[in-house]
Amino acid sequence: MYDCIIIGTGAAGISAALTLKARGKNFLLMGSKGLSPKISAAEKINNYPGLPAVDGEQLKAALLRSLESAGIEITPAQVTGVYDMGGHFGVLCGQDSYEAKTIILATGVEAVKPVPGELEFLGRGVSYCATCDGLLYKGKKIVVVCTSKDMEEEAEYLASLASEMYYAPLYKGAALSGENVHIIGGMPQAIEGGMRVERVVFKDRTVECDGVFMLKSALAPSALVPGLKAEGGHVLVDRQCRTNLSGLFAAGDCTGRPYQYAKAAGEGNVAAHSVCDYLADKK
Ligand SMILES: Cc1cc2nc3c(=O)[nH]c(=O)nc-3n(C[C@H](O)[C@H](O)[C@H](O)COP(=O)(O)OP(=O)(O)OC[C@H]3O[C@@H](n4cnc5c(N)ncnc54)[C@H](O)[C@@H]3O)c2cc1C
Repeated sequence: MYDCIIIGTGAAGISAALTLKARGKNFLLMGSKGLSPKISAAEKINNYPGLPAVDGEQLKAALLRSLESAGIEITPAQVTGVYDMGGHFGVLCGQDSYEAKTIILATGVEAVKPVPGELEFLGRGVSYCATCDGLLYKGKKIVVVCTSKDMEEEAEYLASLASEMYYAPLYKGAALSGENVHIIGGMPQAIEGGMRVERVVFKDRTVECDGVFMLKSALAPSALVPGLKAEGGHVLVDRQCRTNLSGLFAAGDCTGRPYQYAKAAGEGNVAAHSVCDYLADKK
């Protein structure tokens, strides 16, 4: 079992990883090997100490060098669920699962708010994970909402399974096609149904369907971790980055404003120290 699993490869997750490595912990850093899209997206960064007037690509290169020189590998994975097993945690990534004594959530914030009905129908027709739930919709009619080009591959996989797929890309340059794929525009207004999802309401049409995939690069914290206390979409933490779940810490944008690299890196460091203290107390 790992001492810790860090979820997210932004400034917060990377900073936490560097500290855990320095403290000799056995951990995984999970997320995209290309790091957070919010790093490369920045045009000019003037407020990150030690790196004056860099652009996002330069910050990304510097962070990758930090990981490399510390000998830290990223485990490429999209985490779909974190479960408190009473004393340790189970982490699900599609079909794969991992166990750790502690977790650091460094998942950033997703600008897209949950659609009315999304959380209500989670597990009853709403899914966040193509790999985990795709096969349940083989030969069925689905709606897929995708917030990022990076996740188009997951949508392609779903198109290969569904009888009909209504695809709502919330990004420019969608390149998905196929006889069964219907591109529709815009964010859904609501997800409706009875016991399960029955339809998705868009501004100009309603699509009857068997299921809805919401493909997002970051999930609402409470959707990712059952029982986690959050407010206004942010994980509630104290100054040690502790959450309401013992052994689970959070750092960076996911804990609230200001949304800044330096704050994220600082909290990643604090969370990693808290993990070390927690592990020492448990010995
Ligand atoms: C265009 C732009 C310009 C900016 N310019 C500046 C600036 O000049 N100065 C400044 O200080 N800040 C700036 N920011 C803000 C800065 O990008 C954020 O504050 C910072 O990236 C937060 O770091 P983080 O590690 O908390 O989260 P993020 O950078 O959002 O990283 C979180 C990572 O976790 C991943 N993740 C989420 N959920 C999962 C999951 N379930 N499984 C696996 N991985 C997951 C995400 O995909 C992402 O890669 C800018 C932001 C943008 C968008």
